[in-house]
Amino acid sequence: MIDRVRFAPSPTGFLHVGSARTALFNWLHARSTGGTFVLRVEDTDAERNRPELVSNLLAELEWLGLDWDEGPYHQSERRERHREVVEDLLGRGLAYLCDADNREVDGSSVTDGLAARFRMPVGQRVGFDDIVRGEVSFATDDLEDFVIWRSNGSPMFLLANAVDDADMRITHAIRGEDLLSGVPKVLLLLDAMGAPHPTYAHLPLLVNEQRKKLSKRRDDVSIADYRERGYLAEAMVNYLALLGWGPPDDVEIRPLHEIVELFRIEDVNKAPAFFDLKKLEHVNATHLRALPKDEFIERVGPWIDDAPWPADRFDPAIFSTMVDLVQEKLRTFGDTTRFVDFLFLEDPVDDADSWEKTMVKGRSAAEVLDGTAAAFADCAWEAGVLKDVVAEVGEGVGLKLGKAQAPLRVAVTGRTVGPPLFETMADFMERSEVLRRIARARARL
Ligand code: GLU
Repeated sequence: MIDRVRFAPSPTGFLHVGSARTALFNWLHARSTGGTFVLRVEDTDAERNRPELVSNLLAELEWLGLDWDEGPYHQSERRERHREVVEDLLGRGLAYLCDADNREVDGSSVTDGLAARFRMPVGQRVGFDDIVRGEVSFATDDLEDFVIWRSNGSPMFLLANAVDDADMRITHAIRGEDLLSGVPKVLLLLDAMGAPHPTYAHLPLLVNEQRKKLSKRRDDVSIADYRERGYLAEAMVNYLALLGWGPPDDVEIRPLHEIVELFRIEDVNKAPAFFDLKKLEHVNATHLRALPKDEFIERVGPWIDDAPWPADRFDPAIFSTMVDLVQEKLRTFGDTTRFVDFLFLEDPVDDADSWEKTMVKGRSAAEVLDGTAAAFADCAWEAGVLKDVVAEVGEGVGLKLGKAQAPLRVAVTGRTVGPPLFETMADFMERSEVLRRIARARARL
């Protein structure tokens, strides 16, 4: 039998990293077993049934490369089918209608103003074998009769979820741990419909540095934000795959097709997974470094187009050469312009922290700038020479090259961190321009 898995998001207007991880694990299971990946939008709530809430979600899934084989199905379009099941349950006495005061009302067709509740069987246990969590079981006596149809004429989430899993012949429901407690109710509904149970796998909770559940308020949880900052889709899915799963050979950073080959849902563990921004950055930087130069230049295009310099000062040939010097230093595409902007802006940016650190708190900034300006005025304009000059000036005031270079770097580029300074100045900047920038910084000291 071919496995059928589904990603069944309730639209929220954005793709949460936790949902993306769920989507990915379903997708990985489908792709690694030759199964079918179904996308189903659970939009039964009237306020969720809005096209713009769904289009964002689909766009981010596409960006991540998580293509689906069926769907998107929209739960909101299946209301008649949901009603039919509810009325069947009412007709068989497995559910009952109730009024606003929760009093049972006779009848077997749903009517405006009346809700329907599922009648909880007495004295039973409902259990299942979760792939991640093992045996889980609940006593029906601990559960209450629950609403399956609202008095406003719409199905409740658990009912629609159960009916759709049954109708779509879903074999595996891979999803977040927060949904675990709803399973017994869904299983009772499936039993009442005479439908088989899917196999469940509840993925571990994602937590932040404080070991707290990721929250929209505290944490960066939107996939779109990572995309906009210049994370690569392939790095994002690589990192998300590590949240609860690890490859048997412990090689964590690798292309998705290898993950597909190695992935087994049975290997997912249940310990909470730390959503580690530093590690994500590292995974991203590694993928970024590995990009062939042409591809890097093409994909960084949108950030270059958005850069703060005047378009007519940008020189693609200089940028292309700079890529050789900076690609390995970047963490995201979004970092790129910071490393090269001084070459295309009239004046370097004014980065307050860099200025404070080197020009205000750093020792001997004025002496270094004066000495460098004097020597740069007539030395040979070559990287090696420029470096020797600055080393010598530094020596004169008791600073090693690294420290002596800092005020010069801030004067010329605006920042303490950047590309190799001497090569860049020698290859891409006029002597007069470097001297002008040194004088400009010196005047500000
Ligand atoms: N629609 C549910 C949610 O977004 C998920 C349902 C499921 O995976 O069974 O939380």
